[in-house]
Amino acid sequence: MTVCTRFAPSPTGNLHLGGIRTALYSWLYARNHGGKFILRIEDTDQERSTKEATQIIIDSMNWLGLNYDAGPFYQTSRFDFYRKAAEKLITEGSAYRCYCSKERLTELREKQLANKEKPKYDGHCRDKNLPADKDQPFVIRFKNDKEGSVDFEDQVMGPLSFQNSELDDLIIIRTDGFPTYNFCVVVDDLDMKITHVIRGTDHINNTPRQINIFRAFKAEPPIYGHVPLILGKDGKLLSKRHGAASVLQYKEEGFLPEAILNYLIRLGWSHKDQEIFSRDEMIKLFDVKDINKAAASFDPEKLLWLNRHYIKTLDPKIVATHLVPIMQELRINYQNGPTLEELVVALRERAETLVEMATKSRCFYEEFENYQEEAKQHLKPEILPIIKALKQTLENLPDWTDENLHQAIEDIAKQFDLKLGKVAQPIRVAVTGTTVSPPLNVTLRLLGKQRALKRIDAALVYIGQLLS
Ligand code: GLU
Repeated sequence: MTVCTRFAPSPTGNLHLGGIRTALYSWLYARNHGGKFILRIEDTDQERSTKEATQIIIDSMNWLGLNYDAGPFYQTSRFDFYRKAAEKLITEGSAYRCYCSKERLTELREKQLANKEKPKYDGHCRDKNLPADKDQPFVIRFKNDKEGSVDFEDQVMGPLSFQNSELDDLIIIRTDGFPTYNFCVVVDDLDMKITHVIRGTDHINNTPRQINIFRAFKAEPPIYGHVPLILGKDGKLLSKRHGAASVLQYKEEGFLPEAILNYLIRLGWSHKDQEIFSRDEMIKLFDVKDINKAAASFDPEKLLWLNRHYIKTLDPKIVATHLVPIMQELRINYQNGPTLEELVVALRERAETLVEMATKSRCFYEEFENYQEEAKQHLKPEILPIIKALKQTLENLPDWTDENLHQAIEDIAKQFDLKLGKVAQPIRVAVTGTTVSPPLNVTLRLLGKQRALKRIDAALVYIGQLLS
């Protein structure tokens, strides 16, 4: 048996962390078993589904590198297929046409509620074998067993059992001819040969209904694993209040996909006390059976910690590619200065997000108009001879390597009998306009000789004006 899993989101809003976590788990399970992973867009609810939401799903999967082997399949382009499947069930006696009017159903419901019974279809048309009548509206209902129970072993939750008497004769095709959600899921899971379904616990109540439909098609249902929901630290269901509303918002805020994936895999799953997992390790170690039964709690601090870790340790070439859209968004012309790879190496110890890194990089690509207010105090008249001396040394330094630049700064400090910091800080302010930057020799190298000397000249003019 080839393992085949799927991610089957409904494109009705933003794709949030909970959604993408089930995608990740399904993807990992398929990859771990050398199986297939399918993307299926469940857009049957045409009023609520949007093209934008579908695009967000596809973009999020691409960004995170959750590649699929088939799809995206759209349920809206398969309506005829579902209708034919429903007709097949009628022919085989597992479904029936129901002509009950809205009024009758409302009356039935009210009666049942008044008698304190659970509202449920009473099977009025169930055994009548009614033919199709073009002139009268009808639905197609699934003939659910009245007795017995649906039992299955959930990979996460353990053994589960539901009484058939609790389940209704579900409508599978509506009066307008459109198929309903539970039916499409089964027809598709069957057609796409899905062997394992991993989805949120909010679908647990659908599972016995779906299993019964599978059995009516004389097919074995897939193996199910229902993943608990994600809560905020306050114990409430994860929502916008707890952080970014959608996965792509994390991209915009400068998170790396590796950090998001690593964070999500640990949210409700663990392997000993390991915190950092490479993609290959995730694939190797993940098993649905190890998912926690209890709801997971979202911790934004930990996500930031992981992001910092990956910014620091990932190949700078890769980090640089993720930095590109952020530089563009911030309108920083990154062609006009050091390469992004050089920038990442210089700034990676100092940034929690790529947005922070990009913001701190501005002085390497753009001229600044003014010194930061708190930086001005470092450009005092008494510093003039030191800056002048360093300028001269730097001008004569042909090769601006980190070592040579470090030596030059150290020489000047010695010459004036000052600590290194006392020399470095005014120069840092002179060349960046701020008090914080990578080590001064690295900062100077990244700026390049021409740009750095020009800024030192400007600082000399600025100090000169203070004197006059
Ligand atoms: N379309 C459903 C949702 O977005 C998922 C259904 C499933 O995974 O079976 O919640």
